[in-house]
Amino acid sequence: MLYKNPYCKKVKGSFLLIVSCGHCKTDIAKYQKVGRGNLLRMYIDRIIEGAVDFSKHKGALLCPNCNEQLATRTTLKRKKKEVYIMIRGAFNTRKV
Ligand SMILES: [Zn+2]
Repeated sequence: MLYKNPYCKKVKGSFLLIVSCGHCKTDIAKYQKVGRGNLLRMYIDRIIEGAVDFSKHKGALLCPNCNEQLATRTTLKRKKKEVYIMIRGAFNTRKV
C-alpha cells in the first residue's frame, strides 16, 4: 500500500482488519481494531497502512479507485483525536 503510518503503535487487545471499498472492492486500509462489533470509526493513528496518504489527506475519505465516499473526517474534541466516521454500507471489512 501507498501509505505507512510511522507513528502507529501496537494497541493491546487489538486485531487487524482490512477495510475495503464496498463498491469496487479496492483495499483502502489496514487497521488495528479494538473490541468487538462493527467498525463505526477509524482512528487515524491506528491505521497501519493505507491506499490513501492519510498524513496529507484531510477531509472525506474517498475510494482512490472509484471515488465513492467511504467516510467523513472529524476531530473528537474530548480526545483531540482525528477519526473517520465510516459510512454504513459503503465499505467492507475482513479480518487478516
Ligand atoms: Zn471503490
